[in-house]
Amino acid sequence: MAKLIDGKAVSAEVKNQVAKEVTQLKEQGIVPGLAVVLVGNDPASRIYVNNKKKACEVTGIYSEEYALPESTTQQELLDLIRQLNAKKTIHGILVQSPLPNGLDESAVVEAIDPQKDVDAFHAYNVGKIMIGEYAFLPCTPAGVIELLHSAGIEIEGKNCVVIGRSNIVGKPMAMLLLHHNGTVTICHSRTKDLPRICSTADILVSAVGKANFVTAGMVKEGAVVIDVGMNRDASGKLCGDVDFTSVEPIASYITPVPGGVGPMTIAMLMKNTVSAAKLQNKLPLFQERP
Ligand code: NAP
Repeated sequence: MAKLIDGKAVSAEVKNQVAKEVTQLKEQGIVPGLAVVLVGNDPASRIYVNNKKKACEVTGIYSEEYALPESTTQQELLDLIRQLNAKKTIHGILVQSPLPNGLDESAVVEAIDPQKDVDAFHAYNVGKIMIGEYAFLPCTPAGVIELLHSAGIEIEGKNCVVIGRSNIVGKPMAMLLLHHNGTVTICHSRTKDLPRICSTADILVSAVGKANFVTAGMVKEGAVVIDVGMNRDASGKLCGDVDFTSVEPIASYITPVPGGVGPMTIAMLMKNTVSAAKLQNKLPLFQERP
């Protein structure tokens, strides 16, 4: 039976740590501030934005919400980003994706001041991550690393397989595992013999977006299985990519969905907002865990 990695508990620890840092910064007259921009009426995005605002309250981070109508033009959105770039009380800017059709998401991301890019999606920050000199880490992959550390799982020298190569999860996930000295393979929709490659993994991270994609036959006995997927099953219930029932008896550690990677993403966003405040005030950033 695998041990469950409890993302709720680990995310609460990260938020506690962030809250302590926020208190210390406030003593120095610095109040970390996050602006969350939501365009349109996507109900899932509204829930994410509400959760981010709640996490700001819990950690003591100042937050501003900009809820813009579906009819917002690219120019109006870029103008808002420019205002937020210049605003001294705001250290982090998050534009909730997906944006409504017709808005160019990458142009919006590129308009964000890289020092306020708390999602770490700007090409400057992506490049910094590539060379290993980063101030911000993309929230979901950073959350996975934090979960592995919290469970005492060594990455160095391990065969790590990441399924998925998106810019927001798969690629940065692979890069962070590499920075932690894992031997990393990235699989995607054109990968040949994916089950065999997955079954070589000591650490298997799935970020595909398909329910029950990872089955027992793809998992090595004793592997660590991290499920980034957030899907709905036939009955509409939230589930990951991993067929939990069949994989859990084989794995040594596994993350549940919900309650695994999901809560970590928001906690890491809070951490990035504090890092942004420190960066903009020329203070040393969070220390990496040894
Ligand atoms: P995405 O942009 O759709 O990327 C999915 C990746 O999976 C792509 O690289 C795709 O390959 C690959 N893929 C799709 N079908 C495949 C197949 N049959 N075999 C092998 N690879 C396949 O999705 P994403 O944004 O990375 O998100 C992935 C999942 O993570 C989603 O369920 C999303 O909701 C979830 N997510 C969760 C969090 C969280 O906080 N827990 C955060 C972000 C995302 P190609 O590149 O070849 O098309």
